[in-house]
Amino acid sequence: MSSSLPIHAPHCVVGVIGGGQLGRMIALAARQMGVRTVIWTGGLEAPAVECADEVIDKPFDDSLALKDFCSRVTVATVEFENIPRETLETVAKCTGLYPSPYAICICQNREREKNFLRENNIPHTWFAVISSAADLAAAMKELNGPGVLKTADFGYDGKGQVKLEGDEDPEKIWAAFEAPRAVLEAWVPFEKELSVMAARGADGVTVTYDPAENRHRHHILDVSIVPARVSPAVALEAAAIARRVAEALDYRGILGVEFFLKSDGSLLVNEIAPRPHNSGHHTLDACVTSQFAQQLRAVIGLPLGSTRLLTPVVMLNLLGDMWQDETTPPDWLPLFEDGEAHLHLYGKRHARGRRKMGHANFIGATTESNLARAKALKALWLA
Ligand code: AMP
Repeated sequence: MSSSLPIHAPHCVVGVIGGGQLGRMIALAARQMGVRTVIWTGGLEAPAVECADEVIDKPFDDSLALKDFCSRVTVATVEFENIPRETLETVAKCTGLYPSPYAICICQNREREKNFLRENNIPHTWFAVISSAADLAAAMKELNGPGVLKTADFGYDGKGQVKLEGDEDPEKIWAAFEAPRAVLEAWVPFEKELSVMAARGADGVTVTYDPAENRHRHHILDVSIVPARVSPAVALEAAAIARRVAEALDYRGILGVEFFLKSDGSLLVNEIAPRPHNSGHHTLDACVTSQFAQQLRAVIGLPLGSTRLLTPVVMLNLLGDMWQDETTPPDWLPLFEDGEAHLHLYGKRHARGRRKMGHANFIGATTESNLARAKALKALWLA
C-alpha cells in the first residue's frame, strides 16, 4: 500500500448520498470490507436502507440533514447524480466528496455534458442546445434528418426524449415538450451500444474494465454481454476514450461511459454516469474487483483493485414486468437450477412494469451459452 495516498481506512465511515440499488450494493461491498456506511435517502423504503449501518431519511436540500450527514461520515460519495449542487459543494468542503461536485454537475445535465465532450475533443454525436421553438427550427434545418430531442436536465432511461424524423413542425414539438432547455441530437444508426466502466484512484491511477455490449428493451438496459463482441481495436479505443473522460474530469471514483459503435468501427460517447452503472453489474460475479468495491477503494483512498474479467458473463436486468403481480416474484427455481447463474435482488417490495427489481449474472465458458440461458429464463418469466 502506498503511504502517499490519503487513506481514511480502516474504521472509516463512508457517506452515500442516495438510497437506490446502487447505494445498496455499495453498502454491501462496504460491509464485506469492514467499512461502515451512512445512507442519505429520501424514503425508508429505499433499497439501500436495510443494508446500511446508519440512515438519514430527509430531502437532499434539508440543511439540518446536511450538517448531520457531514458530522457522521469520514468521506462521501453519491449513488445517483440528481442532487442539488449546494448540497454537493457543502459535503465536498466538510468531508471530501468523490467524485467531485464539478464532475457530478457536468454529468447531471446533458447540455453541460455535451459541451464538456466538445471542449475536450471527445467523439460525440452532433448536437444543438435548444431553449425555444426558433432554436429547434434552426437546429432541425441544420441537422436535416432524423434526431432525438432530449431534456437538458434529469433525463434517464429514455425519459424526456422525443424521436424526430426531421419533417415535424418545430413549434408544435416545442410546445408539447414541457422543458425549458433541451438538446437536439443527431440520430445515430449504430451497430451496437457499448459501455466501459473506468475507475480513477486518489493518486490519479486510472483503470478500465472490459467493454460491455448493451441491449435495451423499452429504452432500459436489458442485457449486458461481456466481453463485448467487437474487434480488439474497438475495445482498446473504447477504453482509451473512457480513460480520457476520467482524466478530463479529474475524476476520483468509478464512472460509466456509454458509447454508440457505428458500422465503420468509430465510437461516439452518448452519456457519462458519475457512479457505478447498471452495465457494470456483471463485475459482481465475473471480475476480480466489483465496481462497488472499486468505488469504495477510490473514495476511501485505497489502491485500486484488478479489473480482470474472470469469465465471460451475461447480465440480465430483472424488471417489474417479470413479476407475477405487484408482490409475487417470478419462479426463481429454474435460475437456481442453473448452477452458474447468480441472482441479485434489490429488496423492493412492490413491482411495477419497468422498475428495476434486480439482475442476474450468467457466467460460463462461452457468451453463446450465457446468452441462451439468460434469454430462456427471460422468455419464461415474461410469458
Ligand atoms: P439515453 O437516455 O440518452 O441513454 O438514451 C436511451 C437510449 O435511446 C440509448 O441507449 C439508445 O438506445 C437510444 N438513443 C439515445 N440517443 C440516441 C441517438 N442520438 N441515436 C440513436 N439512438 C439513441
